[in-house]
Amino acid sequence: MITTDSTSAHVLIVEDEPKLGQLLFDYLQAAGYLPALLARGDEVIDYVQATPPDLILLDLMLPGMDGLAVCRELRKFSEVPIVMVTAKTEEIDRLLGLEIGADDYICKPFSPREVVARVKTILRRCQRAITPEKNHTQLIIDENAYQVRYGDKLLELTPAEFRLLKFMSDNTGTVYSRDQLLDILYDDHRVVTDRTIDSHVKNLRRKLEYLDNEKTFIRSIYGLGYRWDEY
Ligand code: CA
Repeated sequence: MITTDSTSAHVLIVEDEPKLGQLLFDYLQAAGYLPALLARGDEVIDYVQATPPDLILLDLMLPGMDGLAVCRELRKFSEVPIVMVTAKTEEIDRLLGLEIGADDYICKPFSPREVVARVKTILRRCQRAITPEKNHTQLIIDENAYQVRYGDKLLELTPAEFRLLKFMSDNTGTVYSRDQLLDILYDDHRVVTDRTIDSHVKNLRRKLEYLDNEKTFIRSIYGLGYRWDEY
């Protein structure tokens, strides 16, 4: 198994404020990454196709093409982790509800150290194996490590994603409403919405798709909720 080495990962920064872009560049470089900096949204697709990065820090408001459009375009051909950067906290809720395929969000103003820490976490979570997949492989769930193994592939999940996967895969074939899944995920009565479940499902699906892009695992049942199928 080959994993992304966090100390040599290539991180693409897309930021049109020169000072901020340079600050991120310097911090990431000091942390041992190989950063690159673009200032325009419409330069991203060509760059990524020519030099695929391991992670992208993507500003929302950009000249040429905005961050949302860039993210959507990227998702047509790339599974690279994308961290959206926005100056508006209130934008986060809206972004979470959109099917743009970003992996995480950071609000401006941020501390560069926090950004480096976030980059590190996501790269670790997205460790990838390049072993060809086999048919009839089974998911092996390691509850102690919050990991899922599938053949030679290893998936790192967030605690919420892990609880969702564990619960649903233990109850194969049963349809659960978003409310039921919320109850299972959050017993501390935090203020969460149906969108939160959709967002977790979306992220989990993308990770599972990496394990086996021919299996569905989590099916949407129109008007009802979700069902775990694993075929
Ligand atoms: Ca900007």
